Amino acid sequence: MIIAYKYKLKPSPSQEITMANWLSMLRSHYNFCLRDRIEAYEQVKFPKLGNYSDLKTKAPCCPLTCSISDQSQLGEPFKKSGKKRNAYEMQSSELRFLKKARPWYQKIHSTVLQQNLRRLETAFGNFFDGRGSPKFKTRQKFKSFSYPPNQVKLEENKIYLPSIGWMRFFKSRNIPDGFNLKTVTIRSLADGWYVAIRIENKDIPQSNPKDLTQVKTVIGCDLGIKKLLALSNGELIENPQFEKRLSKRKTIRQRRASRKKRGSSNQKRAYAKLARLDQKIVNQREDHQWKIAHRLVRKAEVMVLENLNIQGMIRKCRAKQDENGKFLKNGQSAKRALNRLIRDCSWGNLKTKIKSVAEKFGLICIDVNPKFTSQKCSYCGHIQKENRKKERFLCLNCGFLADADIQASLNIGRKGLETLGISPSKLLMVHQEVTPKPESTGSRNGEISVSLEIEPGNPIPPAPLSKGGARGDEWVNGEAIPC
Ligand SMILES: [Zn+2]
Repeated sequence: MIIAYKYKLKPSPSQEITMANWLSMLRSHYNFCLRDRIEAYEQVKFPKLGNYSDLKTKAPCCPLTCSISDQSQLGEPFKKSGKKRNAYEMQSSELRFLKKARPWYQKIHSTVLQQNLRRLETAFGNFFDGRGSPKFKTRQKFKSFSYPPNQVKLEENKIYLPSIGWMRFFKSRNIPDGFNLKTVTIRSLADGWYVAIRIENKDIPQSNPKDLTQVKTVIGCDLGIKKLLALSNGELIENPQFEKRLSKRKTIRQRRASRKKRGSSNQKRAYAKLARLDQKIVNQREDHQWKIAHRLVRKAEVMVLENLNIQGMIRKCRAKQDENGKFLKNGQSAKRALNRLIRDCSWGNLKTKIKSVAEKFGLICIDVNPKFTSQKCSYCGHIQKENRKKERFLCLNCGFLADADIQASLNIGRKGLETLGISPSKLLMVHQEVTPKPESTGSRNGEISVSLEIEPGNPIPPAPLSKGGARGDEWVNGEAIPC
């Protein structure tokens, strides 16, 4: 299995300048090559006479007879052996000419430049798989560069980066023995430079499918905002809402930074301070998520999560217009606050972490479609929208009363069992009790009244005391005891 270890670097001032320069140059190179590939792609899409030329004479020719443009216009299209190059190879063959035309690129280690092109290749691979088109990188979006395997050396708390030199780092954790160094990535963050070392740990095999017949425990997890996770065994994990906690301080820093003179070093410092606060929020969230992931894998051998369409959930509301074309209220202003809370939860990252930890321990983590999981009764299987009212779940068919999130997690767990074909008895679940059936006629204003069936001979239970009880009462175990 390949694991990444992250350490904070201690570069010298000159090394810091070198790395910042490299980032700037690599970003220009990335954007330049991206533009080349986009143009070539457009040409292939709409072939025009004149865009293609004969290799020897350079005379324009018909695209049907010549297909030189293979997703790139830079570099040589053919190898010495006569084989055709792909886009990465074509752009890579152009690097030596780039270094002649722009000698400052000679300072960058050649493998780093090649890795930069690989990054573009990956972006286009994603594009061809239907995962969004590659974008031009701004300074804020381009913060890292990487070395391929077998270039970087590691010694105790020192790392050797070719063309930059030896550098110390904070050795916050030990690297396991007998590792194989894979790609090494250097990243600039708000509070300094970091190195991410990818290591192949041979103790953990690449794919370790657990034998499903050996599985003893399964747990279903429901993702939420107020409760970050509701587990099918009845546990609830609170959401600390790190961004909301520091939102006041963030607003103050944003305001301060925006009021500084534009382009001044004062403004630079103010924005750096703001970025450090953002970094703090990210660090707190990441730490919390890793802890949850490790806590979860100790509970069961199979984790079942829900497959949420997060992008769809935070999408803007559609504009509403009346007959005259006047814009009406569409509820976007109210949704904005909800969207902020959803982003603060960072469910996608949490799921990735749970999956990675599960893989590390040789356990199984799957996603299931969450359709109807919050409306379906986990006791009798009755599906009705009205079953759920905010945090309470009350089945209108059998009267099963439960916490809505825990109830949903039970359904998610069951769906996971069905997908994997495991016996339902292995699901960790809360003890279920059925409360009496509600009276359908007694409902008023959509409220559901529950009639308690009291067995003959039993005394009628006393009416519950209002919260706080009478003045001077003492509270013991949630019940008011008169003095
Ligand atoms: Zn029911």
